[in-house]
Amino acid sequence: MTSDARKSCSICGKSFPLTEFAYGGKENRSYCGSCNKADHAARAAGGVEAARQFRTEQRAKWKH
Ligand SMILES: [Zn+2]
Repeated sequence: MTSDARKSCSICGKSFPLTEFAYGGKENRSYCGSCNKADHAARAAGGVEAARQFRTEQRAKWKH
C-alpha cells in the first residue's frame, strides 16, 4: 500500500499527504487542515462572506 499519495488544497494550492485532508470525522476534504482552521476563523469573525473572501484571496495568490 502506498503512503505517499498527495492532494492539493483548494485554498492554498499546496500539496499535502492525504492525511492532511482527513479531519472532523471525514476524509478527502477539499481544504488542508490549516486552511480549514483559517476558514473557520474567518467565518467566526466576519461570517460566511468573510470566509468566502478569505478563500478568494488565498486562491488569487497561486491561481491565475
Ligand atoms: Zn491549504
